[in-house]
Amino acid sequence: MTAWTLEPLVPEFVRQFEAYVPSRPDPELMALYGVPRLFRLNNNENPLGPPAAAQEVLRRFPPPRAAVYPSGDSFYLRRRLGAALGVDPEQVLVGNGANEAIGFVIKAFCQEGDNIVTADRTFAVYEWTARFSGIDARLVPLSDLGFDDEGMLARIDARTKVLFVCNPNNPTGTFWDRERLRRFVERVDGRAVVVVDEAYAEFVEDASYPDGLALLPDHPNVVVFRTFSKMWGLAGLRVGYLVGERKVVDTVRRTCTVYSVNGLAQEAALAALGDDGHVPATRLLVREEKAYLASELSAMGLTVNAREGPYVMVELPVSDTLAYRRLMAEGVMVRTMTGFRFPGWIRVSIGRHDAMEAFVGALRRALA
Ligand SMILES: *Cc1c(COP(=O)(O)O)cnc(C)c1O
Repeated sequence: MTAWTLEPLVPEFVRQFEAYVPSRPDPELMALYGVPRLFRLNNNENPLGPPAAAQEVLRRFPPPRAAVYPSGDSFYLRRRLGAALGVDPEQVLVGNGANEAIGFVIKAFCQEGDNIVTADRTFAVYEWTARFSGIDARLVPLSDLGFDDEGMLARIDARTKVLFVCNPNNPTGTFWDRERLRRFVERVDGRAVVVVDEAYAEFVEDASYPDGLALLPDHPNVVVFRTFSKMWGLAGLRVGYLVGERKVVDTVRRTCTVYSVNGLAQEAALAALGDDGHVPATRLLVREEKAYLASELSAMGLTVNAREGPYVMVELPVSDTLAYRRLMAEGVMVRTMTGFRFPGWIRVSIGRHDAMEAFVGALRRALA
């Protein structure tokens, strides 16, 4: 074989796509920055970890079971979720994180020439998955840091298949209330699938926050995403799911990867749901530490955006990448937001009080 060229084999939309570069493992980063410990405040993980019952499942998992394939459709987990959510278990599809569910939905509904519509400054995986699948992603600018319903409706055309609404939005923490979400779905009027990503639903305490599932009976084109990665503290095990009307889910199931959710993850997620104390304990921590952060940062004269979700945004007088390096040198990892199209901002996940104090101290020195 001579002078083989790869390019002709690679679709144009893959050639143009730049791969996401994940952060390196903690030991590598600690060595690189010369720090003895690292507070990871970049991924919105639950600082309390998984609920006690899930931890017990993890400790007791019989190692020989690793040789056996898991339930290919997360049977018991779907049954439990169906009961908890008041839907038929067949309306639930579990994936290797909600990230995988994004891919399932795009594969199920989009083909060449189709498009999806979402916001320009939201969870980037909707846009990325569309683009590396050869599907056009139409990004509607946020309005007052929130999803712009009118703007999104105006971008729908005959080739629009899926609308992604992140509620509450990562990273801005804004959300559409019950009335606004319902009106939006009514005006979409079945022309496209409406995905309501509720990855942070369990954190929201505002009574006007809607449960997307309530729309299903009247609006069978709605699909709701949830995850065990955030509130349930199981990000490392990769479990997320979608819920929709039976016909929609039966269609999406055709494109899903069977056996993508491992058995240990299924069992830990199932056990997590049985823990009544975990959600209130996490909410209390997030509420207290968010208030602490907001007051400390405001006292430093910084603009803080602290709304819903276990994270806040901070606007800095220096570049976010420079601040990132200075904070890393003190063992604090945050998320730079240039990639979220918020240059000069960082997003900080809420952690335990020692982590919050470490961040505030490090930021004060980084800006001095
Ligand atoms: C973290 C997150 C997800 C999904 O995470 P998985 O770990 O893949 O379940 C989905 N949507 C938003 C907005 C998120 O922040």
